[in-house]
Amino acid sequence: MYNHGDCDQTMYIDSHAHIEMDRFDADREQVIRRALDAGVEIIVNVGNGDLARDSHAAAFRLAEEYPFIYTTVGVHPHEARLFDENLSARLADLSAHRKVIAWGEIGLDYHYDNSPRDAQRLAFRKQLQMARERRLPAVIHTREAEEDTLALLTEEWKGAGLPGIIHCFTGTRWFAEEAMKLGFSISFSGVVTFKNAEDLRDTAEALPLENLLIETDSPFMSPVPFRGRRNEPAYVVETARCIAGLRNVTVEEMGRITSANFKRLFQLDSDESVEK
Ligand SMILES: [Zn+2]
Ligand SMILES: [Zn+2]
Repeated sequence: MYNHGDCDQTMYIDSHAHIEMDRFDADREQVIRRALDAGVEIIVNVGNGDLARDSHAAAFRLAEEYPFIYTTVGVHPHEARLFDENLSARLADLSAHRKVIAWGEIGLDYHYDNSPRDAQRLAFRKQLQMARERRLPAVIHTREAEEDTLALLTEEWKGAGLPGIIHCFTGTRWFAEEAMKLGFSISFSGVVTFKNAEDLRDTAEALPLENLLIETDSPFMSPVPFRGRRNEPAYVVETARCIAGLRNVTVEEMGRITSANFKRLFQLDSDESVEK
């Protein structure tokens, strides 16, 4: 029922979504169907949208139901104040699940400051250590906190020999380049399509192609022409289209490049996502 049909179809990977959230309760099946129809071959459904609603459990159910959906574990910087021994032990258990491919999203968000910055830094540091122990790539969320993010990544991730993703990248080119030196790939969301995102497009045009990934961060950050509406994984194609235009390649080629980057990062076989 959920296969991808024609093998020649262009493939895209949505490296970051939250489709377990209640905004998809009414039509989640159709959302997943539309993603497949658009050529999305893998969705990473990041599991930590909302700990109070046990988003990890909901994300795990999706990952178990659909072969092409993977998940992650972690405590988001918004909820860093909840990070304690109990939660950390629970995440350690969950991280052994076969569909968990990364630790995240973790990091620092000094824009919203939903948790005290000390708590954010502590939870970020501890989780980088946990990811490293478990040999899992890290998915990083950072907003208005580039220097502290880099300092912590340098202290806790440098030399780990592990990759990671700077998700929903909206930062400076300097930050992107420093993060790449530490082994991170840069994932662009629909923000790159926004009218006022000239600087971000300049960065997307300049970075090495082998470091680029694409994502939706659904239900947030809908790309043009869907801006303002609920985002969904099918729309990752619009982000691919935007970056393809900047790089003078076709949208199909950008899909292939970013999918190959993703599979190399996570060491997935090229047919991993295809239902047997
Ligand atoms: Zn995020
Ligand atoms: Zn997210």
